[in-house]
Amino acid sequence: MLEQAKQKIRNISNFPKQGIEFKDITPLLKDAKAFHDVIAAFVQKFASEQIDYVVAIESRGYLLGAPLAYALGAGLVVVRKPGKLPAAVERVEYALEYGTDALEIHQDAVEKGKRVLIVDDLLATGGTVAAACELVSRLGGKIVSAAFLIELADLHGRQKLADTTKVFSLFTY
Ligand code: AMP
Repeated sequence: MLEQAKQKIRNISNFPKQGIEFKDITPLLKDAKAFHDVIAAFVQKFASEQIDYVVAIESRGYLLGAPLAYALGAGLVVVRKPGKLPAAVERVEYALEYGTDALEIHQDAVEKGKRVLIVDDLLATGGTVAAACELVSRLGGKIVSAAFLIELADLHGRQKLADTTKVFSLFTY
């Protein structure tokens, strides 16, 4: 059943810039069965893990993280791009191909020892999720796993996280 959902992921060449093959998940999200099936697969994987918080990464991580948190009976915590969160934040800067980017989390978003599942749509080099892991760790959260709809295996993001964080992905390319 997941194979049908995978077929709904669309490849867009040279977006957002030359040389990138963008994985467009909007056709999957608008297909009721595909959307249901991928969330159900994540729920099945993590239902017995007593997740306290799903930490979702801006912005496509929210599209998966919110329904997953609801279905797991967990709270939803957002990791955002700089300057978006209104209360006191922790901030991590991370390297991009050119320059740096940053992610933020509210300082009171995760209490010490809480069990956290980090969610994003796609694992590429792993820089984004590594930054999210650093934020959760600073707050004292226990990262149960990082979960992705899509993993681009050639970019070795999994290896980047291997020492510290379990990685689960539904679809590997
Ligand atoms: P990275 O930090 O290299 O693991 O990149 C992961 C982040 O960039 C995720 O939030 C993705 O949404 C986005 N991303 C990276 N590469 C792609 C791609 N080929 N298609 C869609 N999104 C991507």
